[in-house]
Amino acid sequence: LRSADQKTGAGTPVLSLRCTGCGRETGLDQLYKCPSCGRILEVQYRAEAYQRAASAGSLLAPGGDSIWSFRELLPIARSIEPVSLGEGCTALLPARRLGLPADANRIRLKLESTNPTGSFKDRPVSVAVTKAVELGVTGVITASSGNAGASVAAYAARAELPAVVLVPDGLPASKLTQIAMYGATLVAVRGHFSRAFALARQVADEQGWYNVTTTFLSAYPTEGNKTVAFELFQQLGEVPDHVLVPVGSGPLLVGALKGFRELVRLGVTDRVPAMTAIQAEGCAPIVRAFNAGDHEVVAWEDPRTVATGINDPLQGYADDGSLTLASVRDTGGVVTAVSDEAILVAAELLARAEGVFAEPTGAAAVAALAPLYRSGFLGAGDSVVALVTGHGLKDPGAMTGLLDPPIVIEPDIAKLRSVIAEAS
Ligand SMILES: [Zn+2]
Repeated sequence: LRSADQKTGAGTPVLSLRCTGCGRETGLDQLYKCPSCGRILEVQYRAEAYQRAASAGSLLAPGGDSIWSFRELLPIARSIEPVSLGEGCTALLPARRLGLPADANRIRLKLESTNPTGSFKDRPVSVAVTKAVELGVTGVITASSGNAGASVAAYAARAELPAVVLVPDGLPASKLTQIAMYGATLVAVRGHFSRAFALARQVADEQGWYNVTTTFLSAYPTEGNKTVAFELFQQLGEVPDHVLVPVGSGPLLVGALKGFRELVRLGVTDRVPAMTAIQAEGCAPIVRAFNAGDHEVVAWEDPRTVATGINDPLQGYADDGSLTLASVRDTGGVVTAVSDEAILVAAELLARAEGVFAEPTGAAAVAALAPLYRSGFLGAGDSVVALVTGHGLKDPGAMTGLLDPPIVIEPDIAKLRSVIAEAS
């Protein structure tokens, strides 16, 4: 990466990378975690970048066609053409028929499932692969529970970069097909996600590739996640009271919070939402630490949930979860778990009542709504946004147990009439 390092810096809006643990500032060529303490780095921007963002007005006015309408505050040199598939600019819909004890027009769904590859991961990956182009690396690698892998494969294809995607074995065939279709080298690593994660780190160093794994490994991809906050501000004309995010390690939550904090810094608002993290009961390391009043998250032993996108035990990087936990606490949010059964019921309700087909992970935040109203954490008049992170077509097999098989008939009008009569 030596020659590539020298490219970083010219025309970049990035001032430095600052460690979220020890506070040390490092050079922009520090692609991964803090060289002193091993914690997560965070991108700091130059004052001119904020001035440009404020004067461009793009943070306030809707009408962009990708996350790159916010490029004044994305960590890429201005001379680099973004690798984009039109990610971001996702719809924000009122959820009127979920049967919640609240002002229905104040509950909204942000459809991250409608991103180009069907999940929110296109936001961080568009930034990550563009960074790979800026660095001049010869390839990218990622460890992924599926959705980031599909996204990396797609954006690498767009950028004409070779991509290697490591996934845990046992992923749904639909996710594997999507990754392979884009031409990435797809490798299933036996065991859960943390195993694939460790291997990706090792081989990236050996090959001189950029490891674009969308946990907190590199500070740059997380920046893409903050565009969801900018869009919410545009769409609502204000900051919502609550944002609910399904969370494995939590870069979407932490990234979105950074976006809201940048809006405060720009002077367009004076508050950030309460950020609430939703985990699955079968893999809930951050919930466990939150409930115990701890500051340090400990890895989960036996991850097991139908929500594959958040089935991340954090083994080997539990401190990633600690940053997410601190972010939630700083904003007055909570971390809560939902059962697989509640997730599947929410997915079905979301599809039938709102016309939104989400994969299990994508329905996790919706599953948490009812209990959070019941407990009084969410108030009837609060402005609440639930992020629907991934499309149902990512993992349709997860839903088949809920559904009757299609009714098959001979081409006979009388039969059809009787089927319709029974159904209605
Ligand atoms: Zn540090």
